[in-house]
Amino acid sequence: MGIKVGNVIKKLLDMGVVTTINQPLDIDTASLIASEFSYAVENIPIDEDILEKEEDAPEELVHRPPVVTVMGHVDHGKTSLLDAIRETNVMGKEAGGITQHIGAYHVSLPKGDIVFLDTPGHEAFTAMRARGAQVTDIVVLVVAADDGVMSQTVEAINHAKAAGVTLMVAINKIDKPNADIEKVKRNLMEYGLVPEELGGDTVFVEVSAKKKQGINDILELILLQAELLELKANPNKAAKGVVIEAKLDKGRGPVATVLIKEGTLKVGDPFVVGVKFGKIRALINENGEKVTQVGPAMPIEIIGLSGVPEAGDSFIVVDDEKKTRQVALFRQQKKRESELVKTSKIALENLYDKIQEGYVKELNIIVKADVQGSIEALLKALNELSTDSIKLHGIHASVGGIVESDVMLASASNAIIIGFNVKSDTKVQQIAEQEKVSIRFYSIIYDVVSDMKKAMEGLLEPTLEEKTLGRAEVRSTFTISRTGTIAGSFVLNGKIVKGEHARLLRDNVVIHDGKIYSLKRFKDDVKEVESGYECGIGIENFNDLKVDDIIESYTYEKVLATL
Ligand code: GDP
Repeated sequence: MGIKVGNVIKKLLDMGVVTTINQPLDIDTASLIASEFSYAVENIPIDEDILEKEEDAPEELVHRPPVVTVMGHVDHGKTSLLDAIRETNVMGKEAGGITQHIGAYHVSLPKGDIVFLDTPGHEAFTAMRARGAQVTDIVVLVVAADDGVMSQTVEAINHAKAAGVTLMVAINKIDKPNADIEKVKRNLMEYGLVPEELGGDTVFVEVSAKKKQGINDILELILLQAELLELKANPNKAAKGVVIEAKLDKGRGPVATVLIKEGTLKVGDPFVVGVKFGKIRALINENGEKVTQVGPAMPIEIIGLSGVPEAGDSFIVVDDEKKTRQVALFRQQKKRESELVKTSKIALENLYDKIQEGYVKELNIIVKADVQGSIEALLKALNELSTDSIKLHGIHASVGGIVESDVMLASASNAIIIGFNVKSDTKVQQIAEQEKVSIRFYSIIYDVVSDMKKAMEGLLEPTLEEKTLGRAEVRSTFTISRTGTIAGSFVLNGKIVKGEHARLLRDNVVIHDGKIYSLKRFKDDVKEVESGYECGIGIENFNDLKVDDIIESYTYEKVLATL
């Protein structure tokens, strides 16, 4: 506009917008400020085309390594297995650099490479998925032969199933004298994992991470599974990937490990990652070696970031360095906007609408209960509720309180959580709120079924929640014949609203609960009075008002009963 920055900032300040020269303005503010200087603003959205997926021609696609996550119950040997695989592979090769923990590593075999994510367990897996990033192709479920199927084994199965990834079973600790391989197999069949020799399609492999037995078998079987999946990517284009780990390094600044999904990443490439951006200054592999470029499915540590991104953030190389900052700012703004607009996930209250709109054909449910018996009864009852238009689908059920990984699974799978005679702690509730996951608590099965039915028919009533509007202090009282006692009051905070509920408090004890039938400023009837003003308040059917009483005005808000 040819106007000094200072003048623009000052004008903004007059409008109540505190900003600096480096901050982007939203379109409304920009239009307003421009009009102050007699300019009009045209809104041309930033071209995010570059972020969109172009189809690759089939001949450009080449095989890429599978990405594997190891899951299973605690102490069943996930870490030991990851270590054993890594060591076996390193020993076979000439000694390279020093192995570094960058969140993932790859092994090279004559038949191909395999990439292992270094954070075992379903929590990290599902947290990434909840952020929209699915990087895992194959899950290896580790089950200790001496311990069998345990609670987290079942959780891992359900989390992997919900994600729709291929699952293989590694029966570990077969060196132990009390190992019972057959029992583990029988156990797992109850969860739909049937070995091939019994007519199923789940690959089982027996290993000992400690004795390094069966390590080559498991690697070969992973490669075989990968072949069936026909994993392909185009290496000849700008790189895209996902952040699997990120941190602020004391010496090197922000660093992140990116798993390349397609294309080839080179030193010098400008990029956007989540709401951060940068230009690749160095690429460092898991052996601590600097490389100049890296292709699909490979994990690589990148240096040259504007800040620390988050695990699960999408990474993309942009052709023009100038654009990176713009796109990052644009994303930042969008992120802020989307945080403001509560993008509601599925809940019982919006279920009916979503069914009608055709968005929902299946309602995913996670059940947590106090005892196994309740779980079975609940799942059976819920199953029977399925109709042609909506299928109820229990994706996970287990005994115990609602924990973070339940919420993340619900978030990733757009599920609701039912807590039956169990609770969740504050932290879990906060996460649920952030993730917009709906949790409902019950103690009677009939109530669950009845709420569910109502929700399916669009009849679930919103619950009413009390909201305090404001408080006033009584400073004098006077009686008007035929009307009653009026309290000359001063509004301490919030506001007093005519027609709304009022509670009379004397020494913090509720003396009366009624409605405000009269509200006046001087002689005039008013609808509401803000804090800092005096007014006359009359409460329905109540005359026993005294100086120093507190009148609390409140209302009821409809709160969509969160499921
Ligand atoms: P994670 O919690 O699943 O990561 O389990 P860890 O890898 O930490 O292993 C738990 C314990 O089991 C450790 O004490 C390991 O030494 C032991 N362990 C792991 N694999 C084997 C195995 O194949 N045989 C035996 N005997 N012990 C094992």
